Amino acid sequence: MATRRERFDQLQTEMRACRQCLAAGYFVVPPAITKGKLSAKIMTIGQAPGVTEVEALRPFNAGSGRRLFQWLEQAGIDEDWFRRTQYMTAVTKCFPGKNPAGGGDRVPSRTEQLLCRPFLEEELALVRPKLIIPIGRLAIQRYFSPEIPLEELIGTDAEINGVWVVPLPHPSGASRWHQIESNRKRIDKAIKLIAKHYKRLFPEGVKTKKRASA
Ligand code: SF4
Repeated sequence: MATRRERFDQLQTEMRACRQCLAAGYFVVPPAITKGKLSAKIMTIGQAPGVTEVEALRPFNAGSGRRLFQWLEQAGIDEDWFRRTQYMTAVTKCFPGKNPAGGGDRVPSRTEQLLCRPFLEEELALVRPKLIIPIGRLAIQRYFSPEIPLEELIGTDAEINGVWVVPLPHPSGASRWHQIESNRKRIDKAIKLIAKHYKRLFPEGVKTKKRASA
């Protein structure tokens, strides 16, 4: 029987090789984009990678990533450290193409979400994060009813099955939600909650390259 480490490595290989959505007739651009360590205490779950993520082979690579890491930096989290030591994944892990109607990338269909779901569940079971940051509605709906508006969720945390969850809105430039003043205040609250959990999980602080070279 495979060890947790062996199964984690196998899972990464299986996700990269997966073509289930293509076989089901959906336009996606593999490979699956995930990044991180089995030992991570914090896991981010996005919606799906964009085209630049596929080119760079890393999650939240471009504009959305810049805004996400601005938020995390405000919570005291160093981007380089986070990318090297924590875990980043998505509800569906292959680029779903542009939305033909405009407004950013295509939202993965319910079928694609279901096809990719076992990967996400196994990532969660193997990594066992202590703090989960679902980013955007699709990821947030893994934890909260779709009937609860984002305005009621962003700026709150919840302990779900022993794991703390702090939702964030999607940081994409195509989204107007995070540009609304009242919602910015909700994001500020969410950032403070992330900072609180980060300090709880890493009370001694962490070794970043900036600190290491200081
Ligand atoms: S999105 Fe998920 S299920 Fe679909 S092809 Fe990519 S890895 Fe497989």
